[in-house]
Amino acid sequence: MNAPYSPSSFTARLGRQIARFAARRDLPIHPDHAIVSFSFDDFPKTAATMGAPALEKRGWRGTYYASAGLAGTCNHHGPQFDAGDIVDLSARGHEIGCHTFEHMDCAQAGVDEIATSLERNAAALQAMGLSDALSSFAFPYGETSLEAKRALAHRFASMRGVRAEINRGSGDLNLLRAVPIDGGEAGIARAVEAAESLVQAPGWLIYYAHDIQDDPTEWGCTPGQFERVCEAVAASGARVMPVRDALKALQETPA
Ligand SMILES: [Zn+2]
Repeated sequence: MNAPYSPSSFTARLGRQIARFAARRDLPIHPDHAIVSFSFDDFPKTAATMGAPALEKRGWRGTYYASAGLAGTCNHHGPQFDAGDIVDLSARGHEIGCHTFEHMDCAQAGVDEIATSLERNAAALQAMGLSDALSSFAFPYGETSLEAKRALAHRFASMRGVRAEINRGSGDLNLLRAVPIDGGEAGIARAVEAAESLVQAPGWLIYYAHDIQDDPTEWGCTPGQFERVCEAVAASGARVMPVRDALKALQETPA
């Protein structure tokens, strides 16, 4: 018998390395651009109730990568979004992006399985009242494989991972880098620093967050911490827009 799959096995680690560097879709990022995109994964209801108003009061909008299989459920992040959140966020100008339906790990799943999950997700979000097409995707856990990157490249304008860096010089549209807004005070300090660094070294900074509540999970933050990141972004002078719109702005720039 073959050994059971283990994400820490040498083969799995090697697979992740290959997936990171191969099957790229390069997006040149002109050095004049400082753009920030706020994104939320899965997503917990507090990402909508606390996150959206914090963005909107500054005239900003975000991207919500939804896993429809989580809708209406409650997990460690708290209650998850429901149909009302999808319609409401979308009507207020936020982007609804795609995650897998059941939050599957795309490094483990086969491409057919992933395709089925994505179709199911799109159909479920449509049934909830979403009329916009899903053009932005985020890999759950930031995990992917060479095969998954190749198979999904034609389906989405962009795909996001969780490697905590700013997209500078060029970005991989099949695995964009993104800085978390989590990890307690140390993590928030890194998120703030990332925004501050845009002044000297512009690029496309994509944030991702989960729950925003007074007693957050280690993958979440407090309303005050989220506010501090927003303040740092405002002070940086960067333009803020959803992932879909940021991509358009970057693609329209003559190099
Ligand atoms: Zn997720």
